[in-house]
Amino acid sequence: MIKTLWLDPGHGAYEKGGFDKGACAGGICEYKANLYTVFDLREEIKAGYCHCHHISLTRKKDVGEPLYKRMHLPKAGDFYISVHYNAFNRPAHGGELWVQSDLLHKFKHEFVDLNKRLKKVYEEQGYVWRGIKDASRWGTRGMYIERMKVPAILWEVGFLKWDFDKSDFDEQFGAVKGPELKEIIEGFAKSLYFSLLKKI
Ligand SMILES: [Zn+2]
Repeated sequence: MIKTLWLDPGHGAYEKGGFDKGACAGGICEYKANLYTVFDLREEIKAGYCHCHHISLTRKKDVGEPLYKRMHLPKAGDFYISVHYNAFNRPAHGGELWVQSDLLHKFKHEFVDLNKRLKKVYEEQGYVWRGIKDASRWGTRGMYIERMKVPAILWEVGFLKWDFDKSDFDEQFGAVKGPELKEIIEGFAKSLYFSLLKKI
């Protein structure tokens, strides 16, 4: 059983270089898209896909603590899920999941199963699943979950502009409104629970 399941809406903090909006494309930036996605993800997980005592968010507003502080919030027995979107200046599609190298090896079969489930979730909605990847092989972004002392994964939900854009989010209500995106978030919560979380 996980003590606290941390949901981290990536970006949305004052870092050394100024305010970190994350990637922006299709009329929306990551700091908002990630936050609204995490609000939905929290509701889905609460609905029965937790296997944890608590769910905590690393930020609940547009602006939160910088990354180095968030990384140290989880304690032994916790699990950390960071949520992001990709952006690219040419057409690029799909969601992907980055996993700490040690975690990926420890739960090898579980992640094979999770990969199959997520592929199905995405394809049923007409989207591309790019796979589960070893975070130690990804430059700076992979590094931060690699450096964390608790099990951590980083979900890139899809590409802003090419998969999801402003119309998929409701800024007035701070929520996800795209029906396919809602299905993907629910499918992610369910898949993660059945493949991995309930075994931890
Ligand atoms: Zn990001």
